[in-house]
Amino acid sequence: MILDGKKLQEKKLLILREKVLKLEKKLTLCVIQVGNDSASCVYVNQKKKMADFVGFNFKYIKLDEDITTSELLSIIEQENNDDEVSGIIVQMPLAKHIDAQLVQNKIKYYKDVDGLSDINVGRLVHNKKCLVSCTPRGILELLEEYNINLSDKHVVIVGRSNLVGKPLASLLLNKDATVTVCHSKTKNLADITSLADILIVAVGKKHFIDASMIKDNAIVIDVGINRENNKLYGDVDFDSVKQKASYITPVPGGVGPMTVVEIGYNLLLAYNLRSEVDE
Ligand code: NDP
Repeated sequence: MILDGKKLQEKKLLILREKVLKLEKKLTLCVIQVGNDSASCVYVNQKKKMADFVGFNFKYIKLDEDITTSELLSIIEQENNDDEVSGIIVQMPLAKHIDAQLVQNKIKYYKDVDGLSDINVGRLVHNKKCLVSCTPRGILELLEEYNINLSDKHVVIVGRSNLVGKPLASLLLNKDATVTVCHSKTKNLADITSLADILIVAVGKKHFIDASMIKDNAIVIDVGINRENNKLYGDVDFDSVKQKASYITPVPGGVGPMTVVEIGYNLLLAYNLRSEVDE
């Protein structure tokens, strides 16, 4: 069975639009892009489309590739201090000369829609209210929509990035799943992935997982987005794995649309969080 992220995105966007309509003010999402990375341009457009649909203001700040870290930090500071701005995203990846961690931590934690600052990550690990990276959140929403219980499952995650694998592991642990995280130094990967009730793959290599690496009736979530000749491919060899899996996400149309909608939900959460923060 297909876990249909596109369909759930449409449903969740309508619900979000209703919630946003009831707010006293129009929320503003600020997106800062440095340089012209082509994938980043696609993601910025998706965010704008979502913001327009839901009824957010979209403040887009486009900066030259050669901007320094300190110049970027002072732009973030301005947005931190702008009460009209509820959430800030600095589009990753940044050019190599920019210190991405400094940049992520400069964003006030209650405006950190990507959930990548040390404060939000720490709060997530401690299971406290916080803004969580949108892709992991979207994956949990998708599993919940299909009534997939987590507390009795062994979840294997392949990939330990700060953006996907690590926050996902914390979220799942907070939901009582049993979690194993694999990465490039993991030995005998297929032995471990074959144990997974739920296998989540975020590696960035086309068709990295094939049917021989999963057990019968596993639930398979493919986070990967690999572009080749203007086509998108996942990290999972969909055609072979779907024969063996009980549920599977397609690429495109699985996790990607969920990430976009969760940005909108995170902006609303950021707005509500702001009112609870006493500086
Ligand atoms: P990163 O490159 O940051 O992380 C990749 C991870 O895969 C690393 O932890 C790496 O291990 C691990 N890895 C690499 N090779 C192997 C291997 N041979 N065996 C096991 N593990 C391996 O990528 P991201 O997490 O940012 O993204 C992963 C993929 O997901 C990409 O295709 C990206 O485009 C996509 N993505 C999709 C999103 C969506 O909305 N659908 C959102 C975000 C990302 P190590 O740590 O040891 O290097």
